[in-house]
Amino acid sequence: MSDALLMAEDLAKTYPSPGGLFESRRRVLAVDGVSISLGKGETLGLVGESGCGKSTLGRLLLGLEKPDAGLVTFDKDVMPPSKTAAWRRLRARMQLVYQDPLGALDRRLSVAEQVAEPLGIHRIDDPAKRMARAATLLARVGLSEEHGARLPHELSGGQRQRVVLARALATSPDLLVCDEPISALDVSIQAHVINLFADIQQQFGLAMVFISHDLRAVRQISKRVAVMYLGRIVEEGTTDDILHAPLHPYTRALVSAVPDVRKPRTRRISVAGDPPSPAERPGGCDFHPRCPLAQPACRNLQPLLLNSGAGARKVACHLVAEKEAPQLARAH
Ligand code: SF4
Repeated sequence: MSDALLMAEDLAKTYPSPGGLFESRRRVLAVDGVSISLGKGETLGLVGESGCGKSTLGRLLLGLEKPDAGLVTFDKDVMPPSKTAAWRRLRARMQLVYQDPLGALDRRLSVAEQVAEPLGIHRIDDPAKRMARAATLLARVGLSEEHGARLPHELSGGQRQRVVLARALATSPDLLVCDEPISALDVSIQAHVINLFADIQQQFGLAMVFISHDLRAVRQISKRVAVMYLGRIVEEGTTDDILHAPLHPYTRALVSAVPDVRKPRTRRISVAGDPPSPAERPGGCDFHPRCPLAQPACRNLQPLLLNSGAGARKVACHLVAEKEAPQLARAH
């Protein structure tokens, strides 16, 4: 996508694993060879089990972490090294919405002051205008001036997440990376908060990376979904394609676990065991120890993320590749 707002090419990130007293320190490959692109005003859902590298990828996209390999470009510029002046300037245009709103807010500052704070950091407007903008943004996310005068612990979880969203919008960013923004909230208010995110995304014309382990949440807000497993993208496509015709066995298991009252109850596909540790990857396809369709070749050969059919569908599975282009799959 040539006019992409955000592009990531072949990103990789490893961390040292702590290891035991007598163990040598190993490297944990948290993100491995991930490429994505996001157009202006577009939303991409990033799903997968916890520990699959979604949050690390989100931080790499914002330049909060330096990749070991690969490149991130934002509006055609290569992401500058973090904490440099060039990076700080860019940060006004791309914001992170955290999973834990209370942890993201300062308990000693009023809500309105915290919403205005990014404007001060980026030296935008004078103090009176900053507070006026904070009041406007709080109203936009459904909070009153009276809420603005409170401290974070005097609000409910849902109200705090609204504050975090208002704060993220203060500098009029082009991109929001939302890292599990509803997982800490009561189930009863999750749908309201997602609707608010969707509404804000439309009204402000924002590009958004929406990270979640919950496909139900992602389908409410994203037109496109990328499914991650053990640091790699295993399937990517439109939300409709992924939900109605998942191709990768892991995606099929995720989708079968999503309750849908409009459809007759379908058999849930269970996946055996827990995901392996990223420090001890199985050889071949990462998913093969848990895959109900694994073939002998899956133990040795890692499947590539290849285009599947028409459109922008991509899948990393030998069986799908074999079905689509038998000669190519055998050659690979
Ligand atoms: Fe399953 Fe093999 Fe496909 Fe991996 S490559 S998802 S093990 S069928």
